[in-house]
Amino acid sequence: MNFAGTQKVLVADDDVVNRQVLAELFKPEHTVLLAKNGEQTLERAARHLPDLILLDVVMPDMDGYEVLRRLRADAQTAHITVIFISGLGRPEDEANGLKMGAADYISKPFNETVVMARVAMHLQMVRQRRMLEHLAHVDGLTELANRRRFDEVYEAECQRSRRSGRPLSLALLDIDAFKQYNDFYGHPAGDRALRAVARTAAAGLRRPADLAARYGGEEIVLLLPDTEAAQAQQVVNAICAAIVDLQIPHEASSVAPMLTVSAGGATLNCAAPENSAELFSVADTLLYQAKKAGRNRVEWRKPG
Ligand SMILES: [Mg+2]
Repeated sequence: MNFAGTQKVLVADDDVVNRQVLAELFKPEHTVLLAKNGEQTLERAARHLPDLILLDVVMPDMDGYEVLRRLRADAQTAHITVIFISGLGRPEDEANGLKMGAADYISKPFNETVVMARVAMHLQMVRQRRMLEHLAHVDGLTELANRRRFDEVYEAECQRSRRSGRPLSLALLDIDAFKQYNDFYGHPAGDRALRAVARTAAAGLRRPADLAARYGGEEIVLLLPDTEAAQAQQVVNAICAAIVDLQIPHEASSVAPMLTVSAGGATLNCAAPENSAELFSVADTLLYQAKKAGRNRVEWRKPG
């Protein structure tokens, strides 16, 4: 993930001169978007998800306070950093703006250097917050989503699927004889193998909503929303085959001369919808069966 990219600043002001002056300040370093009223601000915020909004308080039709309230009410835009910029310079105006959740409050007439410095500081904080959020959701070794991220997404996708009646497929992948691999080749080699398997699993997913996460140890979980059993099984079979094709030697395995994986998978039964724990336990049981049946295979729940 790239945290050094150009950040987007939305300048919202009903005064054309203010808009131009502010836009000129930020154009050299940032992508600048403009809005001349409250409606435009909300529309551009939702469409472009800017990193920061410089929001005029006094505008006809909808004032800045109301714009901020609506931004906060929409989950998509709720966390956008907003700086009020206002001709209302009384301390109570400033206090009111900050109480409403603005990150800062700048009075007009503004000093250009001060505006630039404050915006730069807040954009830096946005960058840092994004990095922390990213780290909180990513497994450090494999760079897949971590268990916490998976749990969040899985719960949301299960609910969505039960509501919509659309299929949701889930598969658990486990590296065969991984303890023997680590014992034989050492843990640094084990980590490398696990990373290669994780990369291959992630590369085998086909849709933006598909998720590969490290569930624990050498176990990877794949979540395929809106995917029927037959289609999901194809994806998982292809991933398992691609992992064998990596030809990572595994002399200590009784299964094959190279690293292999076993998998268990199931698709949410929409006729009698299960909860997330029930579906997971089915996939887990099938993974266990794949292991018992000799490993290096995929067991999928029969449809119906
Ligand atoms: Mg104004």
